[in-house]
Amino acid sequence: MKYLAALDQGTTSSRTVIFTTDGQMVASCGQEFPQHYPKPGWVEHDPRDILDTQISSLREAVRLADIHPEDIEAIGITNQRETTFLWDRKTGECAGNAIVWQCRRTSGIVEELIREGCGEMIRDKTGLVPDAYFSGTKLKWMLDYYNLRDKAERGDLCFGTADSFLCWNLLEDRPHVTDATNAGRTMLFNLHTQEWDEDLLKLLDIPRACLPRVTDSAGPIGMLDPAILGRRIPVTGMAGDQHASLFGQACLKPGDVKNTYGTGCFMLMNTGDKPVKSENGLLTTMAWRIGGKPSYALEGSVFMGGATIQWLRDELKIISTAAESETLAQSVTGTGGVYLVPAFTGLGAPWWDMYSRGTLIGMTRGTGRPHIVRAALEAIAFQSADLMEAMAKDAGRRPERLQVDGGASANSFLMQFQADICGIPVVRPKVLETTALGAALLAGLGAGVYSCAEETARAWKQDLEFPSRMDDGTRLLYMKGWHKAVERSLGFAKE
Ligand code: ADP
Repeated sequence: MKYLAALDQGTTSSRTVIFTTDGQMVASCGQEFPQHYPKPGWVEHDPRDILDTQISSLREAVRLADIHPEDIEAIGITNQRETTFLWDRKTGECAGNAIVWQCRRTSGIVEELIREGCGEMIRDKTGLVPDAYFSGTKLKWMLDYYNLRDKAERGDLCFGTADSFLCWNLLEDRPHVTDATNAGRTMLFNLHTQEWDEDLLKLLDIPRACLPRVTDSAGPIGMLDPAILGRRIPVTGMAGDQHASLFGQACLKPGDVKNTYGTGCFMLMNTGDKPVKSENGLLTTMAWRIGGKPSYALEGSVFMGGATIQWLRDELKIISTAAESETLAQSVTGTGGVYLVPAFTGLGAPWWDMYSRGTLIGMTRGTGRPHIVRAALEAIAFQSADLMEAMAKDAGRRPERLQVDGGASANSFLMQFQADICGIPVVRPKVLETTALGAALLAGLGAGVYSCAEETARAWKQDLEFPSRMDDGTRLLYMKGWHKAVERSLGFAKE
């Protein structure tokens, strides 16, 4: 029996999952690490924690799987995107902590770029809406703050995202590489030319000498250092988490869509070999790059997905577990006209209103706990339906079904309502660890275990399909009510 291992370096934990080559999960091990919030709005990770938890989760997963390291055919890496590391090329010593994707410290730099009228240029070249979220301004901040630009010019520093940082530290001969999907989230990489963009580097004053070499998402990257498992193992797959999950969901054809219901929701639609520019506030991103050929995707996210349910549990305290939301929602036949707009931190695509705030509306004397809980779950589905609508408009095609994963996809009420409100079936796979599966499959493809991407799709297996049961009239009424509620929430926090 041969195995594939996926290193899944996430925002709150580092995981390793081991699969058989036909996609069955054999063992998994996750290790959490501390988050650092040195100032309001700032988020950091200690690079040492990232390495330690990733290495120990790999060793533990191999032990749990009860396999020999030589039975691991290949390793794939997937990671939290955009989080920025900067380290010394000789010693590996990091310049401070990694700046996490959530960190808002560079908002001012982005505002400046927009004021200077660079927004459209950035969008055209990178597919991204300029934001502090992406790595480019974080790297600029580090070079400025630690006064490291000269050192970077001399080639003595390495910049990278978590994939890059792991490769440099865990692989033989310390390759300084990143894959195209991760490069595509830096706001420095040109989606069309597939190269670091000279204009963007100039704009942010980034020396080219500190940037990693950009590889395909599947193919030889290097060998795992034998000090880690006692054996060299090829690393042949690498992609950012949402891209790996799109691959692990076998969304290989244009029009295929997946939605991950975690803390937030991330929806990606494969758009094939052409980048589609969004007119509806979505990002254009790479799906993956295989054989030098990029595939593209549209991406949208919901800020408050499963986090809405956490809010019911931890702040309102009207449920004691996330799973309880399902039984409570099903204890009533509807919300009785109640809508919750969980715009706690503003609304993303297609609204993009940072001033909208949480709104609970439509209550009557009969409104109770189950109605509010149900409205919270419905809100996750409504927000996802808005994203899907935006994608359908941009791509000029309607998806045939929606593939789901992530913690909150375990909620069957939510999945059924999602199918109803989108008017297409929702399909839940057996393996919900699709991010890790995608990384493992990319590694398998890169190592020649599979002869083509289509062959990896056999590893995807369906668990449940939720057919859409709502008639068009009812669906329209629901969406009308939801949009009316959203209108009320917009702009609320504006001076
Ligand atoms: P992340 O990777 O973002 O940490 P996960 O995929 O682990 O997220 O999912 C966790 C989220 O899913 C939490 O926000 C939690 O509230 C939500 N969640 C978990 N189980 C359920 C459930 N049965 N119903 C609704 N939400 C759930």
